[in-house]
Amino acid sequence: MRRRIADIPNRQLQQLGSAINQWQIVPNGTEGYRTAEVTLGGVDTAGLSSKTMESRRVPNLYFIGEVVDVTGHLGGHNFQWAWSSGFVACQYA
Ligand SMILES: Cc1cc2nc3c(=O)[nH]c(=O)nc-3n(C[C@H](O)[C@H](O)[C@H](O)COP(=O)(O)OP(=O)(O)OC[C@H]3O[C@@H](n4cnc5c(N)ncnc54)[C@H](O)[C@@H]3O)c2cc1C
Repeated sequence: MRRRIADIPNRQLQQLGSAINQWQIVPNGTEGYRTAEVTLGGVDTAGLSSKTMESRRVPNLYFIGEVVDVTGHLGGHNFQWAWSSGFVACQYA
């Protein structure tokens, strides 16, 4: 049955709005390493200088990019992190 929105009672519209806004999607799995693009974990940033990327514990040891526990959303953030941290480290290493 087709109805004009203007003819639907507010209560029904609010129920519809709530149902849509509270709709939750629960992922049921991942595709694993076959399509993985970035890894969680790695060298703890607390152990590195954020200015030089040098280890706080081992002088002259630098960590950059994917090996550090920094994870960006897809869309270039991981490349940017790899390039930026590499650039920073190169100023000091
Ligand atoms: C399929 C895929 C798609 C992606 N798409 C995007 C994207 O669209 N945008 C984005 O921002 N990020 C993307 N990423 C993530 C991004 O590629 C990485 O975050 C980034 O390349 C990390 O750079 P990196 O130099 O730290 O490490 P890597 O690029 O992994 O470089 C590490 C290098 O070290 C070499 N190596 C390893 N072990 C040794 C060893 N023992 N001796 C010598 N060399 C060694 C490896 O061969 C490799 O060349 C993608 C990743 C994958 C896998």
